[in-house]
Amino acid sequence: MKFETRAIHVGQEPERTTGAVVVPIYQTSTYAQRSPGDHLGHEYSRTSNPTRDALQTCLASLEGANHGMAFSSGMGAISTILTIFKSGDHVISTDDVYGGTFRVFDKIFKEFGMSFSFVDTSDIRALESAVRPETRMVWVESPTNPLLRITDIRKVADLCRSRGLLLAVDNTFMSPALQRPLELGADMVVHSTTKYIGGHSDVVGGFVGTNNPDLHERIKFRQNAVGAVPGPFDAWLTLRGIKTLPLRMAAHESNARHLAQFLSSHPFVQEVIYPGLPSHPGHAVQKTQASGFGGMIGMRVRGGLEAARRVCSSTKLFFLAESLGGVESLIEHPAIMTHASVPKEQREARGITDNLVRLSVGVENREDLQADLEQALQLSQRDGSSR
Ligand SMILES: *Cc1c(COP(=O)(O)O)cnc(C)c1O
Repeated sequence: MKFETRAIHVGQEPERTTGAVVVPIYQTSTYAQRSPGDHLGHEYSRTSNPTRDALQTCLASLEGANHGMAFSSGMGAISTILTIFKSGDHVISTDDVYGGTFRVFDKIFKEFGMSFSFVDTSDIRALESAVRPETRMVWVESPTNPLLRITDIRKVADLCRSRGLLLAVDNTFMSPALQRPLELGADMVVHSTTKYIGGHSDVVGGFVGTNNPDLHERIKFRQNAVGAVPGPFDAWLTLRGIKTLPLRMAAHESNARHLAQFLSSHPFVQEVIYPGLPSHPGHAVQKTQASGFGGMIGMRVRGGLEAARRVCSSTKLFFLAESLGGVESLIEHPAIMTHASVPKEQREARGITDNLVRLSVGVENREDLQADLEQALQLSQRDGSSR
């Protein structure tokens, strides 16, 4: 079965007792047993739930994984993975990593005696020189947030294999519709399903997929022990979103390409960051490892912080909000919003300048979106005192 068909059918047979074509929401915490230990496959919903099973089976299929685990959130997934390590272990991470991931590495797991190095994983030599005897895992995000830097996942996977390191790839920005890290050699693929996979900004969730049975057992054991599981209704909403994932990703991408072109020639925009533009430094690598460029755009507005702030406050269709990947377009200011916890010098050094604005391009009509950005950019260049 092809991807679009699997998104709708895998794990989603009609329900046996009634023929319901949609997987029911099994809103139950426990399951009756016939005699002690003799049950129908489920004992308690922290351990397993049929609605969650359906989601895990479907998403694992889309990522080309033999095993899938759904979590309460992306951070629940990431934190649970980290519990497979112990004090003294070292992890190398992409430096431009999601803020919550940086926080849990640097503020929580460091306290338990682990250490972390943050390097530009698009530079394979920098990555190689960060490897230590106690290194256990490499954590990659590609494209990154918010600068959309691209890491060559195959190259990193080769390095990890030769050094005996695990490779985890956070695939949130691409979704399996555009990129499948396990096929590129990663040991684990990780998602915040809150974003493109759920796709409607109405549910928080996470996912881990792997083809390594031992890794699956270890993470599943810890998930059950720690308890970072999604409720049945959240699993159901996410599964509902997945059915249209391929359609939505195609629409996000074609709108983003259109807007990236429009913004590239706009006099009030200094720079457009979009992997689909041939000028993007990761463009060539992206073409070898993904079937598209996604729906996220960075733009540096002429006129610094004030101009960027005005653009963000002036759009009407692009809602000013954190998060991304939903059908509705969002705009945000990384330096003030999602990346405020990164110290200013570090932000500037990484390229998160005060005039950087991040767009999550939705699936609305592209001309409406273009007109919305145009009027906001016009307002951005007005003298602030005249407003
Ligand atoms: C949002 C996000 C996360 C965290 O996921 P939550 O569902 O918010 O816990 C992790 N990685 C990336 C790339 C994200 O965008």
